[in-house]
Amino acid sequence: MAGCDDSFDIIVVGAGPVGLSFAASLAHSQLKLAVVEGQSLERLASPAFDGREIALTHASIGILRELGAWDVISASDKSPLQGARVLNGSSQFALCFDSPGGSAEPLGVLVPNCQIRDALFKIIRLRGHARLLCGHSVVRATNSRQGAVITLSNGRQLSARLLVAADSRFSATRNLLGIGADINRLGNSMLICRVRHERPHHQIAIEWFDHHQTVAMLPLAPGVSSLLLTLPSNQADGLLALDDELFLRELTKRCRGRLGTMSLASQRYIYPLATTWAHRFRAPSAALIGDAAIGMHPVTAHGFNIGLGGQKQLARGIQTAWRDRRDIADPDMLHRYESRLRLSAAPLYHATNILVGLYSSEHPAARLARHLGLRLGQHLPFVRHGIAAMLRR
Ligand SMILES: Cc1cc2nc3c(=O)[nH]c(=O)nc-3n(C[C@H](O)[C@H](O)[C@H](O)COP(=O)(O)OP(=O)(O)OC[C@H]3O[C@@H](n4cnc5c(N)ncnc54)[C@H](O)[C@@H]3O)c2cc1C
Repeated sequence: MAGCDDSFDIIVVGAGPVGLSFAASLAHSQLKLAVVEGQSLERLASPAFDGREIALTHASIGILRELGAWDVISASDKSPLQGARVLNGSSQFALCFDSPGGSAEPLGVLVPNCQIRDALFKIIRLRGHARLLCGHSVVRATNSRQGAVITLSNGRQLSARLLVAADSRFSATRNLLGIGADINRLGNSMLICRVRHERPHHQIAIEWFDHHQTVAMLPLAPGVSSLLLTLPSNQADGLLALDDELFLRELTKRCRGRLGTMSLASQRYIYPLATTWAHRFRAPSAALIGDAAIGMHPVTAHGFNIGLGGQKQLARGIQTAWRDRRDIADPDMLHRYESRLRLSAAPLYHATNILVGLYSSEHPAARLARHLGLRLGQHLPFVRHGIAAMLRR
């Protein structure tokens, strides 16, 4: 298949953090690879801060290290997460997650999304094994057992033995391949900004399910946190439109002084929330990775972690097939990839959605359930340690 200039062994659509990780995972293979990205090369080469601070598990850090990307990220962009507290309404009670046995090992590490993208892009550039085709999105895709062909917005046609869609939770490629998805637009948005604050955070994250809002405070450098406010979308849009002074006043009121006096340390960013679960993660000569397969709610901070683990499995299946001189789009291999990802991600995906439903409802039964849930969690060490282990995995 990979002979002429526009034919490849693998085409990856989407140079987000998962698409780039996948391309980096295949850096040492002999495969002819193209990465197609709608954004310009300049934007890809210097990704702008987008407000997202990604909580990486130890497994994800291990994968980024294997790819050579972890050491490219500067130490000042890595903020250890030593613990987390979950609060409900005005109750003083907190469900606590800490490092096991008081060890100094963090639960995870927070890294800005743009720094992860930047590091992975540098690795792809350094290895020089993948052709980057930027500035045009995919507008047409056809696939069969023999291979896949895509058409870009500039009319250019590319063919590949395997097409891999990594083009976000609203993946156009997924649609073009005829793969349906459960898409749940939640009607809420997450408003994010960095703040400087008076009280120390001790590297402890706070997730606070208050009435009609959820506030998360993620500890970054000393005296700096990322504040994430989840609200009905119309209210979040209203806050976004306020000038800095009014916004800060509103923010301080909503945080009820937990961090003391605050000042803004970044712009504001807004993310309308939607979860997605693709009905299939593969098609003949095609596979979905990252958010194109599973778009998690950010409250449990696992979307990228799951996507990173998934791309590693797919890349490994491809490399094994290549080494054994088998087809790199072998339907059995793609089936195994899909089954494993489904099995490993489904419990967390569904548990997260139940949690979101429970904690965003103002029904008295839901309020009681979350109050009891937190207390039960605190008094059942296996629940607490189980969740902490999951966060650390
Ligand atoms: C507020 C927030 C906080 C989060 N926090 C965490 C966290 O703490 N931990 C965690 O693990 N995850 C977190 N996530 C989830 C994480 O950001 C995503 O899971 C991750 O970005 C998915 O990466 P991706 O590469 O699959 O998709 P994306 O990041 O969506 O990238 C998709 C890429 O494809 C390109 N593209 C789109 N359409 C086309 C097309 N038609 N043709 C060509 N290119 C196209 C886009 O330009 C983009 O570059 C958070 C998400 C949000 C919104």
